[in-house]
Amino acid sequence: MPDDTGPLCAHCGITIKAAEAGRPEELRLRHDLRVEPWDHLLEPALGVPAPLPPACDFCDAPEPAWVYPPGVSAIGVHADLPAEEEFPLLDELTRHDWLACDTCSVMIADRNLDGLVDRVLTERPALDAAAARRVRGTFGTFLSMTLRPHPYPD
Ligand SMILES: [Zn+2]
Ligand SMILES: [Zn+2]
Repeated sequence: MPDDTGPLCAHCGITIKAAEAGRPEELRLRHDLRVEPWDHLLEPALGVPAPLPPACDFCDAPEPAWVYPPGVSAIGVHADLPAEEEFPLLDELTRHDWLACDTCSVMIADRNLDGLVDRVLTERPALDAAAARRVRGTFGTFLSMTLRPHPYPD
């Protein structure tokens, strides 16, 4: 078995990580992405993970143009965010950079949640209504933060 074998999602090939779920000793498996995919469910497996080139964390476009450093301001959890997603998302928002393409960054600057959700669900349709609502809750929570983006380094 090659050394780079590890836990991944059999559906998309992306590495899986165990994220704290908010209660002691409770972990949830998630894709190693800022936002859990909304077009399929995680299918845990072992294998050689697919390489993960930098991409927009919203629409998945290659060549992100902007970096959003981790949030330090108050975060307002959007009403559409499922309760079980709250802790893992806050972790992503406060500990990791988020990346956005030019088109998404304009909608982020305008706090255009409808536009952002429409764009990503057109690019990649949601599995079901609950998944679509989770996307809206996720991006709505992101947009509640004070954002200080800087250009993605060339
Ligand atoms: Zn997957
Ligand atoms: Zn984008």
